[in-house]
Amino acid sequence: MLAVENLEVVYEDVVLVLKGVTLEVPRGQVVALLGANGAGKTTVLRAITGLLGVHRGSITKGSVRLDGAAIDHLDAPRVVAAGVGQVMEGRRVFAEFTVEENLRIGAHTAPGGALRAGLDRVFTLFPVLADRRIQLAGYLSGGEQQMLAIGRALMTEPAYLLLDEPSLGLAPLMVQRIRDLIVEINQQGTSILLVEQNAAMALSIATHGYVLENGKIVMDKPAAALLDDEDIREFYLGLR
Ligand code: ATP
Repeated sequence: MLAVENLEVVYEDVVLVLKGVTLEVPRGQVVALLGANGAGKTTVLRAITGLLGVHRGSITKGSVRLDGAAIDHLDAPRVVAAGVGQVMEGRRVFAEFTVEENLRIGAHTAPGGALRAGLDRVFTLFPVLADRRIQLAGYLSGGEQQMLAIGRALMTEPAYLLLDEPSLGLAPLMVQRIRDLIVEINQQGTSILLVEQNAAMALSIATHGYVLENGKIVMDKPAAALLDDEDIREFYLGLR
């Protein structure tokens, strides 16, 4: 299990952005983390992946544990090595490198022999990337770049995958496609923490969901219960 407990995070030593966040991603599950802009979702992911320091943030209280072992003192490469992969917001691919080079970069910390297996897995999961393996990543469509960003994170065979807004800026059909791929990746055994503004998409595949508001978890329920919740329906799903 990936467990975040009572986490407090500050930026620049002053701005308290997470105010005691507790959440769990049990093995095998898809867990959704919802919340408005600025609620602190990306900060939760940075705290898990060891990337807070890059953004002048730090953990002032609480812990992040992976199968019981604390990982909150590890730097980003060690978190990846421990089995947590991540796709940052904005699907940052290396535009001037080819599709295959992007995937190879993702595998540079993987053990020898894993590269071939990783490429095979990603190209099977995303045939469109196999077709474009020698094309520059910058020329891919937004949806294809998102697939490449996810594929790159899969190259280290993470047990847990953190996805930051994978549907952002994509057309509805592509959102559907990414959704189906997340389900498939999960069925292959990868546990997923899915940060999304698209609550309908996220809750349609998650088993459990959390709602973050202003640095605090204000709801913590099975996804089905969140879909039924009146506030969620009104504020996150646009239904009444
Ligand atoms: P979004 O969906 O807009 O990305 P979010 O829920 O992911 O929002 P965060 O990006 O975690 O929210 O930001 C939470 C708060 O922390 C915001 O008020 C933001 O302005 C602030 N923040 C983020 N990064 C920094 C930083 N490096 N220094 C100072 N404040 C920051």
